[in-house]
Amino acid sequence: MKKTFIFVFSLLYVLVITPDVTTAHEYEPNLRWFDLYYASSYGHNVIKMKVSDNLLDNGPFENKAQLAVSNWNNHSNNYVSASMSSFSSSNVDYADYDNWPGDWAGLDGLAILYDNYGGNNIDGTFQYSTIYYAQLNLKAENFNPSNDHAERLVAHELGHAMNLGHPEDSGLISSIMLFNCPYKIPQDHDRDDLENMY
Ligand SMILES: [Zn+2]
Repeated sequence: MKKTFIFVFSLLYVLVITPDVTTAHEYEPNLRWFDLYYASSYGHNVIKMKVSDNLLDNGPFENKAQLAVSNWNNHSNNYVSASMSSFSSSNVDYADYDNWPGDWAGLDGLAILYDNYGGNNIDGTFQYSTIYYAQLNLKAENFNPSNDHAERLVAHELGHAMNLGHPEDSGLISSIMLFNCPYKIPQDHDRDDLENMY
């Protein structure tokens, strides 16, 4: 079913369409990942994600989904509990997107977020308060396997699935969600955003 919704959303949605509803943290204030549980030992909710284990088995993104999962699990102050899953049961899928739309020529990744009814945040049909499924599209041809650019991008796109957005004050903070993906490890700013949202 999820494969029938191959609409193209872009990271620019956060930048262009919704700048008036956010401040320094560019996320929709009432939108969250759907699968949560309250952990009394931590005193907050934990995000559960099932990340596909078989869509990045070649090219520069080889094994990068596993690295992104580990980086978020180990550096989120216990806000993220992601696991690898078969494609049939995953709710976060990565794709090496080879039909890159012209409108997004300058981007290396596109996060398409879906609600529980298949509506998505690119065509205006997303209408519920939870992100039920995320398709994270990556453009392999832009990546050199000899550096960690691909790992940084994959970890960044996984942040979008949690509804993290691009910080506006990019020159002043450290964040995995900065537009140019300078980090592969979540930063204090990212942990603060998760605390505020979850
Ligand atoms: Zn982004």
